[in-house]
Amino acid sequence: MTTPPAAGTPAPLFGAADIRRLAADVDIRPTKTLGQNFVIDGNTIRRIVAAAHLGPNETVLEVGPGLGSLTLGLLDAAERVVAVEIDPVLARKLPDTVARWRPDRAAALDVLLEDALRVTELPHPPTALVANLPYNVAVPVVLNLLERFPSLRHGLVMVQDEVADRLAAPPGSKTYGVPSVKAAWYSSMTKAGGVGMNVFWPAPKIASGLVRFTRREPPATSATREQVFAVIDAAFAQRRKTLRAALAGWAGSPVLAEQALRDAGVDPTARGEVLDITAFARIAEARREAPASPAAPRPVG
Ligand code: SAM
Repeated sequence: MTTPPAAGTPAPLFGAADIRRLAADVDIRPTKTLGQNFVIDGNTIRRIVAAAHLGPNETVLEVGPGLGSLTLGLLDAAERVVAVEIDPVLARKLPDTVARWRPDRAAALDVLLEDALRVTELPHPPTALVANLPYNVAVPVVLNLLERFPSLRHGLVMVQDEVADRLAAPPGSKTYGVPSVKAAWYSSMTKAGGVGMNVFWPAPKIASGLVRFTRREPPATSATREQVFAVIDAAFAQRRKTLRAALAGWAGSPVLAEQALRDAGVDPTARGEVLDITAFARIAEARREAPASPAAPRPVG
C-alpha cells in the first residue's frame, strides 16, 4: 500500500513507484482504448499546474483523473476540483487516494463516474479545464465541454503533440483544419510546450503537447453554431477543392455555393484552409435556400 505523506513535509506528487503500487492496489492494467497513460513525474505535474495559470478561487474540471497524479497538484492550486472519470475502478479509488495523500483537501474534490463526452451536469460550475486527456477523444471532449459549460473561462490540456498543433494552428498553416476552426469558435488556443514520452506509465509511442486556451465570444452572426459547423465540415471534407466545389453539396449547387461565398466576401476559388472562423460564420449566414424544384407535370387525361 502507498505511504501517505508525513505531516509537515511538502505536498508530494506521485512518482513511478507510487503509480505502480496504486495500480496494483486496484489491480488495473492500463488500457489503450481509454487512453490510460498515467503521469509518473512530479515535475511534469508542477509544470502543467503552473502553465494552467489557476487563481486560488477556481473550480477546476479534470477529465480522466486516473490514479490521481494531476488531481493532487490541482488540489494544491485551486479551490475545488471536479473530476470526471469513465473507469469505475479508478473513479472509486480516487477519493480514497486523496483522503490519504491530501487529507486536508479531500472535501474539495468531487468525483463523477461519467463519460466526459456525455456529461451534462456538474456539482459546481467549473471555471477552468485542466486535464491530461484520453488521446483518442481529446478534441470532441474539449469542444463538448466548452459548449456545455459556459462557466469554463480558460484551461490547459495535454493531448497528442500533433493534436496540440492542430488545435492551436492559425488559418493558412499546414495543420489548420476542423479542430482548429471549431476550437476558435469558443476560444483562442495556444501551444504551451511539448512533453516527452517517458513521464508516463505506460509510455505512449508518440509525444504529447500542452495547449492553453482562453474563452472568447463566438463571432457575431445570425447563423447558429450548428450552421457554422456544417460549413466547416463541408469545406474540410474536400480540403483540396476550391470552396465553390467543396460547398456545392452544402449549398445545393455550385452556383448557390458561389453566390453564398460572394455574398460573404469570400473568393470562391479559395480553399477552406485559409479562412478564419468569422469567414465561416459569414458564409453560413449568406446561405440561400435552393429554389423549389418545379412541380412535377400532372398526368393528362
Ligand atoms: N490524469 C491522469 C494522469 O495524468 O495520470 C490520467 C490521464 S490518462 C491519459 C486518461 C484518463 O481518462 C484515464 O484515467 C481514463 O480512464 C480516462 N478516460 C478515458 N475516456 C474517458 C471519457 N470519455 N470520459 C472520462 N474519462 C475518460
